[in-house]
Amino acid sequence: MNVLIVHAHNEPGSFCTSMMKAATQELRAQGHEVDVSDLYAMQWKAVADAADFGSRANADYLVYALEQRHGWEAKTLAQDILAEVEKLQRADLVIFNFPIYWFSMPAILKGWVDRVLISGLCYGGMRFYDRGGLKGKKAMLAITIGGQPHMLCEDGIHGELQEMLRPILRGTLGYTGMTVLPPFVAWHVPYIQPGQRGELMEQYRQRLRQIDALQPLRFPSMDHFDAALRPRPAAAPW
Ligand SMILES: Cc1cc2nc3c(=O)[nH]c(=O)nc-3n(C[C@H](O)[C@H](O)[C@H](O)COP(=O)(O)OP(=O)(O)OC[C@H]3O[C@@H](n4cnc5c(N)ncnc54)[C@H](O)[C@@H]3O)c2cc1C
Repeated sequence: MNVLIVHAHNEPGSFCTSMMKAATQELRAQGHEVDVSDLYAMQWKAVADAADFGSRANADYLVYALEQRHGWEAKTLAQDILAEVEKLQRADLVIFNFPIYWFSMPAILKGWVDRVLISGLCYGGMRFYDRGGLKGKKAMLAITIGGQPHMLCEDGIHGELQEMLRPILRGTLGYTGMTVLPPFVAWHVPYIQPGQRGELMEQYRQRLRQIDALQPLRFPSMDHFDAALRPRPAAAPW
């Protein structure tokens, strides 16, 4: 399998970066091909703007998604975007490896999502969820977090973890058609003992050995909705 790890941590010695390195080593040992996009090391441009387009369908008014479609068809998207799209197209599994920032992903990774998951290729024209452009690929989040499990559960102070991650798991990965595996979470990383971090790393390696057996998250099928995206009355709940 071809694996792409999209990694977003600003410190090469961080636990999160160690997770990326451990995953690269573990997956290669299993015989997989692994590509890494180390976004800080690449000085990835996080801002989606007019500079992303070499030629414009409409030079007077920027509609970013429409220019993505045009740029993809005309192959005039910025070179850094095209290089990442190529990696994405090659990948059977995409691992997003990052520390939680403000209940979400670091801005540099959000910029990868905004610029690389291009309209026309990954979604668009009523192609999303099980009709999304990235159907057939798997995705998994590998995250580090300051909080603890009891803070991110149903009765926890911050609510459920999957609710916190919904814009990523559902609104991005599920939306573009990817099969979304349950996230791997390295809890409370800065505050635990070194030995506990070693255990976490071993748990992550174990997780990577079980990728094929993981039960994916469930998202709606487009078949259950009409042309206006209203639920079809007769459809069984997805
Ligand atoms: C802007 C911002 C917003 C944030 N928002 C949230 C939030 O909403 N919710 C929340 O819970 N947290 C939040 N945090 C906290 C953040 O998620 C955690 O600090 C981060 O995930 C910790 O992971 P890390 O890799 O950066 O840890 P690090 O601090 O880099 O690593 C911890 C320790 O592990 C050591 N280490 C490195 N490699 C290994 C290894 N192989 N084995 C053992 N030890 C190793 C490092 O040397 C270090 O001492 C936020 C932080 C920031 C900066």
